[in-house]
Amino acid sequence: MSGVLGVTLRGMEALPVEVEVEITGGLFAISIVGMPDVAVRESKERVRAALRSLGLTLKGRVSVNLAPADIPKEGALLDLPIALGMMKTLGVLSNCPNALYMGELALDGRLRRVRGAVPAAFLARKLNLPLYVPTENAEEVALVQGVEAYCADSLSELAMMLTGAEEPRPVPPAVIPDIKPVADPDFADIKGQAAARRAAEIAAAGHHNLLLVGSPGSGKTLIAKAIAGILPPLTDEELVETLLVRSTLGMDTKPTRERPFRTIHFTASTVSICGGGNNLRPGEVSLAHRGVLFLDEYTEFRRDLTESLRAPIEDGFISISRSAGTVTYPSRVLLVLAANPCACGYFGDPVVPCKCSALDLERYKRKLSGPIMDRIDLQIHVPRLTPEELLSFSNNKENPPESSAIIRERVIKARKIQQERWREYNLVCNAELPEKLVKRCLILSEDSKNYLAMMAAKLNITGRGLSRILKVSRTIADLAGEENISKSHLAEALMYRQ
Ligand SMILES: [Zn+2]
Repeated sequence: MSGVLGVTLRGMEALPVEVEVEITGGLFAISIVGMPDVAVRESKERVRAALRSLGLTLKGRVSVNLAPADIPKEGALLDLPIALGMMKTLGVLSNCPNALYMGELALDGRLRRVRGAVPAAFLARKLNLPLYVPTENAEEVALVQGVEAYCADSLSELAMMLTGAEEPRPVPPAVIPDIKPVADPDFADIKGQAAARRAAEIAAAGHHNLLLVGSPGSGKTLIAKAIAGILPPLTDEELVETLLVRSTLGMDTKPTRERPFRTIHFTASTVSICGGGNNLRPGEVSLAHRGVLFLDEYTEFRRDLTESLRAPIEDGFISISRSAGTVTYPSRVLLVLAANPCACGYFGDPVVPCKCSALDLERYKRKLSGPIMDRIDLQIHVPRLTPEELLSFSNNKENPPESSAIIRERVIKARKIQQERWREYNLVCNAELPEKLVKRCLILSEDSKNYLAMMAAKLNITGRGLSRILKVSRTIADLAGEENISKSHLAEALMYRQ
């Protein structure tokens, strides 16, 4: 018996798996035990062919044991340690250092990219072991600092490295370039919509969830997409967090400081949005982690779907319990919702008349409520522009719309002020301020307090609504670089209330 360490995934976490191979006499057969899934069971065919490409033929009864036995093993990433375990047992691999090995084998012995290389790199760092990966995974592994990693193109190349016949190929740690990502779409390309642009800027600055209400064709989706481009670039730490999600899913892991932007449609399933399912993969809300999660046509979403999003939006993470244990995914997102103003879509439109009855309008208003709506800080109307307006905006060459880069500079400045202010509470932006700290930390002058009390009575705002207005006012004041929340800041925040 001789163990080789491989890796399996549970959610976004990599777990070590010891692969033990025993070969005895008798008729040829391979069996794999230790809760393998279909992909692991199929690995015997790939491994057998890959070994044949090295001129090795398996004979006798081959037993592969994956330990610990109580953890489900999944995917093709165990091909490599299984092959190495067999080579070790056959006595053709004189040296197999204590390390983590991962990789899928092609029939000709080439090593293929696998999902989960970034979690595996975290595990290697934790266990203080070297990590061997397919060359195609090297780029993402390089982004995890403090890992001793090596890569190879094929099983034969790796075998030669291990036995010293070839120089090992270390994966050098990558430096993530400090380039500000280019905004796409850019606010410079969005005509008019002064109010929506302003609301988007406040949302980005204080990390406030936003609802855009407008008729079809008003450009709600474009504005939502543009918000990702005015958020500050991802920090190193945030970048690795987003990478971890994408690596777990086997997606593109090109390092970028661009904030994620993910759209979910009302036809999506709870599993695809929140994650889970048989293989415990993260969902859309985790792919949007540290970026923007956009729910288009919000009123069409089923109640159970919005209900399931409530906790991840509020907590910044999702926990999913399975018999094998609990997995946790990150879900710190800026939520942007879009909705039509009414069922027919044209309530308040300058050109097309609304066909809804009073009852329709009332019923629609009820749809615009519920667990997610309670988490919205800013609500703004996005009017559809008339052809004349569009034309006049296009002809106005002296006053071109501000670019995303300029808006982002203001957002970054406001974020810095917030980070300084909330450092002692370990918060980074105004929207995160918990209820109990709002009263203590957001203090108004006597004058402003009277004004807010008067408006609150007039508009029937209580409790949570008031905290929301205070937090948004704080962000508006931060964008202006002002220390105190003034009446004008409160007045603007009141404009965005639900
Ligand atoms: Zn209508």
